[in-house]
Amino acid sequence: MNYCSHCGSSQLHKKQPKEDTHTRIVCGQCAQVHYRNPTIICGCIIEQDDKVALCLRAIEPQKNTWTIPAGYLEFGESTELAAQREALEETGMAVEICELYSVFNVQHMHQVYIIYRAQFVQKTQEMGSESSAVKWFTEHTLPFEQLSYPAIKTMLLRHSKERKTGCFSLYQGDASAGRITGLHPN
Ligand SMILES: [Zn+2]
Repeated sequence: MNYCSHCGSSQLHKKQPKEDTHTRIVCGQCAQVHYRNPTIICGCIIEQDDKVALCLRAIEPQKNTWTIPAGYLEFGESTELAAQREALEETGMAVEICELYSVFNVQHMHQVYIIYRAQFVQKTQEMGSESSAVKWFTEHTLPFEQLSYPAIKTMLLRHSKERKTGCFSLYQGDASAGRITGLHPN
């Protein structure tokens, strides 16, 4: 940040405001405190029968790798609606949210991921420009060598395994390590 988004001044300083616990960027002109908070990314694993739908990324980062539909939570939007909207935008599919499946932090990117399991309802539009392909995969055809991130791979492996038992769990932690809790029958 070079200029205050409140008054346009370039007099920005790092300091810890009174009764605050963190160092903030504070405007020397208008005294506005500029808070920085992690962004929330919502997405879903789209299921139909024994398959899941993945999108091939048409854009950077991780162009030409397969991933689940996910994107930034918008102002005024619920996390479930964001996951549904991202599914629609990136795959053209209307989905119904089933349940929460993974919550993990990517701390170096200042991101929190909230991932749901979702049921395919119907194809209602063409896939968006962020995807160059959308395909259904069974556990035997999942493109493990061409997935966008290790955390996606770990999650899809767990999903394949749990799907056979019908018992889904909730993962919480960071992208590489966490806890799996709340095992329950589907
Ligand atoms: Zn200012």
